[in-house]
Amino acid sequence: MKKLLLLFLLVPCIGFCQNQDAVFIKKMSDDILINGKAYEWLHHLTKKIGNRLTASSPFYKAIDWGKATLQVAGADNVILQECTIPHWVRGNNDEVAVTYFNSKNQNIQLHAIALGNSLAGKVKAAVICLNNFEELEKRKNEIKGKIVFFNYAFNQTYVETSTAYGDAGKYRYTGASRAAKYGAVGCLVRSLSGSTDNLPHTGAMKYNDSFPKIPAVALGLQDADKLCKMCSNNKVVVAMNTHGKFLKDTTAYNVIGELKGNENADELITIGGHLDSWDVGEGAHDDGAGIVQTMEVLRVLKAMNYHPKHTIRFVLFANEENGLRGGVKYADEAIAKKEKHLFALETDGGGFSPRGFSFKMSDEQLKKVQSWLSLLQPYGTHKLEAGGGGADIGPLAGDILKTPIAELLPDSQRYFDIHHTNNDVFETVNRRELLLGAVNMAALIYLIDKYGL
Ligand SMILES: [Zn+2]
Repeated sequence: MKKLLLLFLLVPCIGFCQNQDAVFIKKMSDDILINGKAYEWLHHLTKKIGNRLTASSPFYKAIDWGKATLQVAGADNVILQECTIPHWVRGNNDEVAVTYFNSKNQNIQLHAIALGNSLAGKVKAAVICLNNFEELEKRKNEIKGKIVFFNYAFNQTYVETSTAYGDAGKYRYTGASRAAKYGAVGCLVRSLSGSTDNLPHTGAMKYNDSFPKIPAVALGLQDADKLCKMCSNNKVVVAMNTHGKFLKDTTAYNVIGELKGNENADELITIGGHLDSWDVGEGAHDDGAGIVQTMEVLRVLKAMNYHPKHTIRFVLFANEENGLRGGVKYADEAIAKKEKHLFALETDGGGFSPRGFSFKMSDEQLKKVQSWLSLLQPYGTHKLEAGGGGADIGPLAGDILKTPIAELLPDSQRYFDIHHTNNDVFETVNRRELLLGAVNMAALIYLIDKYGL
């Protein structure tokens, strides 16, 4: 009977509260779509500052700009959290040329770019084309003195391209050292993309210190296919010339804007993206979009005169692309200071139309979040699923803090066409798609702040 009474009292409350929430979220959405600043901020970040490789001079300009813009957006205070960062430089233009010993003995320049963290190397050697690591193991006795070319293609059957990226990523990240283990002198990888053009895509690789540090380069997809075909017909020699090196580690900052909570001020909600980018294009989708969406959420909460229960931190992380030092530092400091982290959200999948969120949290917490689906649906969210979290906030979800985390899921179809290339520029970002991402993020943050997890 008591239960029945409770249910009776609760049902109208759920309806009433959800209606209140729907009205508030619609107000935020209207304000973002009309008065949103994210697109203008992105224009400044991409066109006035440009790409922002960790430790480069534009990266430091972006830190100053981020601090000033978080203040403009309405942060109660902005903190610079110092961290030590790696200082990798490309050095010069990377070159890969193939000599094809057919009737004409052709020399062809390939569209290529050294992978991030790859060291300088000038090598000329025969090429062995491999489709995967299984083939590497089978043919390990043929590798010595050669350049290994991993031609592992994006799996086109995955509907979400991020799944294909996750699947193929190991060739870029670990391929060079796995080939060097068997005596390879250089490593080529097929760019991590499913596009139809010939643009090479850079991205992080990591050496295993047990093996020689051979140069590692990504090829455009058309050239990857061409080279693979040449290898199967004739003897092919490739000349690689790269110039990458590490300078001494240096200092940079995570930029943190805070909106103080008025009930549980010592409980934190984090929302963020990464301020650094690769040294190609303008880092517009990756992750300029995430940075300006994060700041847009702050702007709209202030515009609504919303006073959060919990302290909300808007974080522009340093060094996601080639080290993750910013994200690691943020979590280390949280552990050292025994901070309480209720939730963290990252957006680093491009500024495309939002489709939902992916969560790493308990089943019970996920169920609670899923009960809000109808509130988010009008703005493009149709899935609230288990799985995700961003790279920078990953360390917060580690064994000590176990913070529930999530990532925005923008439509993924076009992201890996431009990811880590010269084509990741402001012109490829659509204003409304970018702002709608911020609407969904603001709504989720509002609901978690109000109802907890
Ligand atoms: Zn990114």
